[in-house]
Amino acid sequence: MNFEELLRDNPCSCGMTHRCSIKHVIIESGAVKKVASLLGGYGHILLVADTNTYATCGEEVKAQIGEKLESVHVYQRDGLLIPNEEAIEEMRARLTEETDLIVGIGSGVIQDLCKCVSFQEKLPYHIIATAPSMDGYASVGAAMIIGGMKVTYSAHVPEAIVADCDVLKDAPMDLIKSGYGDILGKYSCLNDWKLARVVRGEYFCQYVYDLTFDMLVKTKDLGPKLLSRDPEAIRVLMEALVGVGIAMAMVGNSRPASGSEHHLSHFFEITGIVDDTPYFMHGTDVVYSSVYTEKLREELLKLDAPKPNTVPSREIWEENIRRVYSSVSDGVIALQDKLGWYNEDRFPAYCDNWQEIKLILAEAPSSDEMVGYLESIELDIGEFRKLYGDKKVEDALKFAKDLKDRYTVLWMYYDLMVH
Ligand SMILES: [Zn+2]
Ligand SMILES: [Zn+2]
Repeated sequence: MNFEELLRDNPCSCGMTHRCSIKHVIIESGAVKKVASLLGGYGHILLVADTNTYATCGEEVKAQIGEKLESVHVYQRDGLLIPNEEAIEEMRARLTEETDLIVGIGSGVIQDLCKCVSFQEKLPYHIIATAPSMDGYASVGAAMIIGGMKVTYSAHVPEAIVADCDVLKDAPMDLIKSGYGDILGKYSCLNDWKLARVVRGEYFCQYVYDLTFDMLVKTKDLGPKLLSRDPEAIRVLMEALVGVGIAMAMVGNSRPASGSEHHLSHFFEITGIVDDTPYFMHGTDVVYSSVYTEKLREELLKLDAPKPNTVPSREIWEENIRRVYSSVSDGVIALQDKLGWYNEDRFPAYCDNWQEIKLILAEAPSSDEMVGYLESIELDIGEFRKLYGDKKVEDALKFAKDLKDRYTVLWMYYDLMVH
């Protein structure tokens, strides 16, 4: 992929000029050897990693930084590193008046911490990727745990992303599967984006849609090669993960990368945190959830015409939200009250556009096809059903939409079929 072209200001027929402020993306074998070439102008660099990520390429990156290194902070944890207040403070304590750049080595958590702290301190950051595990490398969102709750801050993108395929290919297989799952979930979210354009007249960019879809197509059949850690397959996956992040930056929101399947995964993650029950890794949850969002599309396709639906009372809805979201239900209710979509009449939009809607729904792969992709990378949908159980999955299909201010097939299902 030609990242240079993608990172240029791009006036588009959608009316926007697409911009992304990332300056450098290097995804190749031996990329770590190019870190030094990106450090011109900086002289006091804080290098951040955890014990696992430092072990992958920490010494090489340190040698690349050379005399520009101010200090190294390696998080030491017995269990998982949590991106919480304590971790933020730990990194901040290593900054001086002179620090002019943060370089992080890692994937999810290290990236989120560097993103958050550098944003607070108005410093740029570079990320040296260690796993092709999710599409957040190029995104502004920093997923943090604050006050024990998951909060996604809008921070800033890195100045440089360096991904060395020789490092990435040795990442834990669960992380590689998760990255593949995050990309395969784009079938569902891109379909949601088209539905939102038709039903709610939402902004849509065909160029960014096609760009994202193209990356998905290049990745979808790589399951077996990823299982064997083929470096070329790893490179294509990583390009897609970074490219999708750039697509989000281009439209200024996460529409090209996150829809109903992500809402389901967030539901499982948030209820898991609240109830202290296990949940899958992000991209794995996303791709399992996509099987279910495709099932909803299949159900909706059976309708010859939209039928008027009886909506449950406010009391019943609130009761359910309190049951499934317990300690975080106030925030969910407040969000939906502010949004007002329960009082919006979408029925005329369904009636007027039903044939077009059906064509869009039919474009998405079937749930069986999605299961095929899962199997190609040795993920078993039975594991998903086993971990969450039927009731929790049913709750997610009904109430995950309430976590977000985004129209997806979950709302269409609610509007037309759920009761
Ligand atoms: Zn556009
Ligand atoms: Zn994702």
